Amino acid sequence: MEEFLEHFKERTRSEQRWLCEVFEGVRQQLYPLISSSVGLSVEQLTLSVLSKVQRAAGSEVASLPVSYRFVSLSELTRQQHTPCCSSLTWSSAQYREQARRALPNYRALARDNILLMGYLYDGPAAGASDGGWWVRDAGGAVSCRLVKSSPLWLGRLMLFPTWNYIPQNAPAGGGYLELIDPPVCVTPEAMTFDPGGSLTEAMSVKRAAELLKQRCDAQVCVSGQVSVISPLLLISGRRFFCLILSEGDSAAPVLITEGKHQYWRQCVCVGQYICISAMRVCSLRGWAGHHVLSVTAQSRLHPHVQTQESSEDPEKHLMDTDSHAPDTHMTSHTASCSTTSVRKKHSTLISYKGLITKVLHAEAGLYEIDGKVGLCLAYQPLQERGGGLRPGAEIQLHNVHFLYRPSPFAPDVVLCACLCSSAQVTAFSPLSSKVEVCGSHSPLQRHLLEKNLGVSQYLWLCYCQRVITERLCPRWVREERVCVVAGRLLDCVCDAEQKTDRKRDIYREMLQEPHQCPVTTYCVSWPCVVLWSVRHLCDWMSSEVWSSLSLSSLVSPAAAHMTCAELNACLSWSVHSVRLTAAHSQPLMLVGVLELSSTHATLQIKDQTQTLDCVCVQTDQSGATTNSNISTAWLGKPMTSLLCCLVCVQRCTLVMERLMKTNFPSWKHLDQPNYITHKHCRLYLQFCVSDLIIISPSAAMSISLMEKKRDQTDGREADQKRDRRDEGDDDPLRSACVSLVFRLNSKQGVMFRNTSVSADAHTLQMGFTATVSCLGDVQLWNNDPKNRRIQTSETDGRETTMDLHFGDVCVRWFPLLHPGSVYRLIAHNTEDVSVLKAESISARGGVKLLSNPALLMKHQWRLHTLTHMEQLLDTQSDVGAVMSVSKVLHSSSTSEIVSFYGVISQRITLQEEMGTKPSIQSVTATKDSSVVEEGLKIRLTVQDSESAGHMIQVYVDLSCGPYTPGLLQGATVILQDFHRKVSKACNVYCRSLPISCVSVTGLGSVSSGSGGSQSPPPMMLLGEWASGRTQQCIVGQVKGHIVCVLSLRLQWMCSLCGSTFRQGSCSRGQPPCDSSCGVFQAEAKVAVEDGSGEALVWFSSDTVSELLMLDVGQWEGLQRHVRVKGHVRVYTRGHSMMCDVDPEEPLVQFLCCLCSSNTVCRQIKLTCRLRAQRTGKCQLRKVCRGPTEFISKFPPAPQLQCLEIQTDTH
Ligand SMILES: [Zn+2]
Ligand SMILES: [Zn+2]
Repeated sequence: MEEFLEHFKERTRSEQRWLCEVFEGVRQQLYPLISSSVGLSVEQLTLSVLSKVQRAAGSEVASLPVSYRFVSLSELTRQQHTPCCSSLTWSSAQYREQARRALPNYRALARDNILLMGYLYDGPAAGASDGGWWVRDAGGAVSCRLVKSSPLWLGRLMLFPTWNYIPQNAPAGGGYLELIDPPVCVTPEAMTFDPGGSLTEAMSVKRAAELLKQRCDAQVCVSGQVSVISPLLLISGRRFFCLILSEGDSAAPVLITEGKHQYWRQCVCVGQYICISAMRVCSLRGWAGHHVLSVTAQSRLHPHVQTQESSEDPEKHLMDTDSHAPDTHMTSHTASCSTTSVRKKHSTLISYKGLITKVLHAEAGLYEIDGKVGLCLAYQPLQERGGGLRPGAEIQLHNVHFLYRPSPFAPDVVLCACLCSSAQVTAFSPLSSKVEVCGSHSPLQRHLLEKNLGVSQYLWLCYCQRVITERLCPRWVREERVCVVAGRLLDCVCDAEQKTDRKRDIYREMLQEPHQCPVTTYCVSWPCVVLWSVRHLCDWMSSEVWSSLSLSSLVSPAAAHMTCAELNACLSWSVHSVRLTAAHSQPLMLVGVLELSSTHATLQIKDQTQTLDCVCVQTDQSGATTNSNISTAWLGKPMTSLLCCLVCVQRCTLVMERLMKTNFPSWKHLDQPNYITHKHCRLYLQFCVSDLIIISPSAAMSISLMEKKRDQTDGREADQKRDRRDEGDDDPLRSACVSLVFRLNSKQGVMFRNTSVSADAHTLQMGFTATVSCLGDVQLWNNDPKNRRIQTSETDGRETTMDLHFGDVCVRWFPLLHPGSVYRLIAHNTEDVSVLKAESISARGGVKLLSNPALLMKHQWRLHTLTHMEQLLDTQSDVGAVMSVSKVLHSSSTSEIVSFYGVISQRITLQEEMGTKPSIQSVTATKDSSVVEEGLKIRLTVQDSESAGHMIQVYVDLSCGPYTPGLLQGATVILQDFHRKVSKACNVYCRSLPISCVSVTGLGSVSSGSGGSQSPPPMMLLGEWASGRTQQCIVGQVKGHIVCVLSLRLQWMCSLCGSTFRQGSCSRGQPPCDSSCGVFQAEAKVAVEDGSGEALVWFSSDTVSELLMLDVGQWEGLQRHVRVKGHVRVYTRGHSMMCDVDPEEPLVQFLCCLCSSNTVCRQIKLTCRLRAQRTGKCQLRKVCRGPTEFISKFPPAPQLQCLEIQTDTH
């Protein structure tokens, strides 16, 4: 040390202290590794270091760079936790210049002054060559990257003037160095003997290519230009890479398998002239019939000095994607959307140079260059990227595939590297960025390799992976399972045939001409399925529901004749439904979990963004089973076990119900939206169980699927084992539980009930009651049996009936309980079988109650549908009989409380009775304040699902329970426990009771119009209709002759109060009505005869003009004439028409004349509804046949209401 300091006597104290530190560093960290052949002492080495440092720093003997501290590699990796840069050569101005290059949102790397020296090796330790460069000193090693390197640097002590250090927070620690300026050799070059043969023997590529055609055992030395460099590959423990030397049309592939030569990968680049000595010709097992040159241990790599970087500029191949892309690839865009025809295209190989502007997805190997071009490195092994590919780095790509619009979820232009491509950083990024650490192989890349995905599918997979991570991870999908789930979704959107199934052939991919690899062809913009989040879907529906609203289209043509109240009732409810496929220009898919809502008593689909109600049925209306036997159809579907299954839905209907409060005076004001006083909407999905695709089954679903499989394979033991490793098995405690198996006989509707919280406080709570038949006694279990196969002991014992009460949050079970289905009720963490014993309600005051014993469902209890219980169906005696509509209409013996099924043909909101407050207000109102329907009462017209002529009006009070979604035109419903009533006119109708329950079992077809899909009513003979012998149709078609118009009434009515409206004002006097709005109404009563009998047919306003055969102008003229008096009525007396007042008036005379003319009394075809179902007494009438007179019995003429006049074809 003293000896060393002798040289610096004149230096200041601080300089001398710095010199001591450097000396100590060199002695401890660098000297131990120096080759003995160099023959330097520590002092000599330190002096050599100092001179290089001073020269690099640009300072002459005058000063020393004392601000730079000597840091060993182990200190650097231990202490430096943030990215930094250090430069001996840069001035502050130069550093600022670097920093100025920063991209938006990025900062320049922090500057530190560090003196860094070490030996360059091709591995972290002696004998551990890994093909990359490493800097080593006595205490440690750091991986490093260089823009350009030389094989002459191997093993030499270097000073690194300018570099970046990027720490990586991997568990192994460490980071890597980006060496910006070329390293400076500290020691003079030791003369080494080169046994690889002299360069003068080098043969051309052309000769080498000829040599490869025949076998040759001699060692050869070949020189040529590098045209292809593969990445370093590690396959079954062997590391190697390939390059191709070219000259004109000739090419010579070279395989570098020697461990000690693999660092050459860092020393060569495409376009460079090189010479490799001592190679042998050998054949490749993986590439039959081809010979390659193989590097031997004696081989040497010589950069070809005279032609290097001269004759051919490698960058001349670089393309400008801007000018290239649009014109040559425009055609590919147009047909891209359809999933059925997938367009495939060939990619072209190009070279490209650009600036990395963004890391799109480090794990997936996706980057963005120059702000618009995508780069996919997923087809290359991982070690090739890792370092250097940071935003701000310049990158040069050779032989990458140019893809135009491979996926809607990637930039338009994507450059994809394969095994013949090389991606090289040509300038390291001066920017600081978050460093993402990748494991050895990301799950995405593993999936790519295992499934041999094409690039388009891979890009979709990456999109899907990101989306699932955002929306479902970690709550429903564990992080490590995200890629598995994404892979299953990819399977859903890809047909088997559209997948590339060809295994990758690495040698062919790297070496063969013409080039062939998985990226050679790609699908244009496919798969293009978009995954919307539940929130996105809800947002879309919320805006669509009102933007699609057209008031005038909601009202029928009869609206012109409606009074104010009728009109506003008509507008108060409407529905807009859209298929999911129609919601977006690209196909859509929804991914989420199914859950039960305890506040809505509905099924819901949800992800981390939002929740949406669902109506789920077993089959759509096209499925014939729905209509024939509902209870069997419902059974056998594992509805319960779908809970928390991760599902995807591609086929479903988005339903948007609009509920509005309006006060439009008449239809003429419909264009003025200010008459809408309140509006809100109900949004939900409708789908069939069969349209749900299970992506990740719940534990219970796994059991169900497994048992189904076991039934098929006749119970193999292997299945049992698979069952054990079910994911999400949520009972690690394995505690005891008790269970009860029952069959559901009936369930009541969910309604609000008063429950007492304390002695005098009452609160409203939702609840319902189900009547069940217990199939056996309560069982004790060591483990939760869930929905496993029923055991014989469970059904031993007497079958008893009990009432199961569901209150509060237990109402969530409501959508899953179907009459006829068998369930297992489980109470956890107990061995007490009495908890599931029903109790008889204690009789009060000696009164014996006739009700069943009751059991209150507890929050923590679970229900499981037992899907394999079909055989028990035959014995279902107590399940309430579900009738058809016609049976309800015509059976005289039906009890007052009926259950029936049918298809909704019309839904009408009943007019609010003024001044009556709803007796019960929705409890959910307080929770989501925006959506409440108070006192919502509707009338459903339910058609018999088999015979269209039978229909019944059902009055449903929706205000006593949570809102029932799905009550739409075309939907098949089961109405349970409704009150059958008969009106004064003998019409049968039904009214809901608090216990009534409406369940949707089939979905109608989506059509914005008024359900044209329904079958037309049957053709009826009037005599038959009158006789009442057959079960009377309520609606039918009639073809007959108009005998005469019995009466015709035309009037103007006040739209508000219904009084006569005369000359533009209401005629009401007490109290006066100031309404200025009148509506014209007309009614005609006509006798129609069809040969078999006679009927009285009523025509209302909108059909009268058609009856009288008046065109629009004549009809309006008639209305104008009536306006003067406000009212006119003509009727038949005897054989002529007459009027009580002013019989001479032209209007009256015109009407009398018109009604008795042949224009009106004609052949006609009508659709009619029975006005009254009463079959009155038969009448006795005289009938003349020639000279004889008979007295015959005639059934009374049926009274019909005309719904529609079919235009007569003859
Ligand atoms: Zn390729
Ligand atoms: Zn009035």
